[in-house]
Amino acid sequence: MDFELTPDQRRLQELVADFARREIEPHAERMDRDGVFPTALFRQLGELGITAIPFAPEYGGMGLGTLEMALAIEQIAIADQSLAVTTMVSIATGLILQRFGSEEQKARWLPDLVKGQALGALAGTEPQAGSDTASFTTRATPVADGWAINGQKAYITNAGTEISTIALTLAATSEPGADRKSFTLFVVPRGTPGYSQGEPYRKMGWRSSDTRPLYYDDCRVGEDAILGKVNEGRHLLHKGYQQARVFLAHCSLGLAEASLRRSVAYANERKAFGGTLGKLQMIQEMVAQMAVKVDAARLLAYRAAWMGDQGTATIRELAMAKYYCTEIGSQVADAAIQVHGGWGFMDDCAVSRYYRDNRICTIGDGSSQIQQLLIARSLGLDVRFEG
Ligand SMILES: Cc1cc2nc3c(=O)[nH]c(=O)nc-3n(C[C@H](O)[C@H](O)[C@H](O)COP(=O)(O)OP(=O)(O)OC[C@H]3O[C@@H](n4cnc5c(N)ncnc54)[C@H](O)[C@@H]3O)c2cc1C
Repeated sequence: MDFELTPDQRRLQELVADFARREIEPHAERMDRDGVFPTALFRQLGELGITAIPFAPEYGGMGLGTLEMALAIEQIAIADQSLAVTTMVSIATGLILQRFGSEEQKARWLPDLVKGQALGALAGTEPQAGSDTASFTTRATPVADGWAINGQKAYITNAGTEISTIALTLAATSEPGADRKSFTLFVVPRGTPGYSQGEPYRKMGWRSSDTRPLYYDDCRVGEDAILGKVNEGRHLLHKGYQQARVFLAHCSLGLAEASLRRSVAYANERKAFGGTLGKLQMIQEMVAQMAVKVDAARLLAYRAAWMGDQGTATIRELAMAKYYCTEIGSQVADAAIQVHGGWGFMDDCAVSRYYRDNRICTIGDGSSQIQQLLIARSLGLDVRFEG
């Protein structure tokens, strides 16, 4: 077993860490306060080549793997989880397109996503159903020259910024009342008549990441909008979610690492009872527990990414990484607030942002409950849940 990253992976990690420290971290608090997607900063990620990491060279990519992308996402998340999430959703969208798209779809949409000049979105969730993907009601019906999509999506990341291009949209395509509902994934470009984005939600965290409802009102797309095959879209969307889960695990890992670092620094600096906080054994215990959780999370997250690249990852490893990393992200951010005392409760203190940002990670992209169901099922338990 080799727990070391390769020299190239370490260099990549250091490059992204350096950029994140200089260009992202100093602006993270302001971006959280302003709640506006930082287009220029995201474009810089593209210029640095970060958004190109896992894509094939023919689309402008670097031809590296999930692990390299995950290492970059972790470093961005140490500075700002909100930007890390935006990045990873767009990358996950591009990866589904790369894997299942036609040559025309890839040639048209991938290069800008790869360059970080465009953002992609994955539109699954609806107002009345999130975990229960079989209950989505957005419907696509065949028309003379393609399909007409009608319905609504909720809480979708990345669809409404000035550089948003496509939303991979899941819509039911089986006959109404069919025994088994089937879905198709459509590439819906921004600007398609009948497709519109609502106002951004006011959110507890991820404030500089764009999240909106999407509306499809007789939205007309051609046959060339179908990603993969008709009626196989749910499987494709789940593949996209699974990819995103590895990256989301690294988003929480980065945030947990940042929480730990800030806690150690603060404990060494804050004076209390004639010494520093860090000399108090109960603070030491808290910090030690945080460190163990971060390390255990890192092992699960790196293993999931690495197995993904080897082609050996099963749903179990992905679910374990997503479940554990996002849960400990919240636990470690909470402990960081405790170490910071009253200051940790203030909006201006970074750890309070970490706490708010990570809260959605145990809900989005398959909640902790859903991940536990997947793990239990993989162990042979009779789990009655379609997902
Ligand atoms: C900021 C933000 C960004 C998002 N971005 C996207 C995006 O880009 N694309 C997208 O498609 N979606 C996105 N989502 C939606 C997100 O993925 C869903 O909120 C999530 O999947 C949960 O669905 P739900 O909100 O409908 O909750 P529900 O499915 O209604 O679940 C409610 C609660 O019940 C639990 N639960 C559900 N089913 C079971 C079960 N069988 N057993 C036990 N417990 C269960 C859940 O764990 C949860 O705690 C985003 C959400 C937010 C808030």
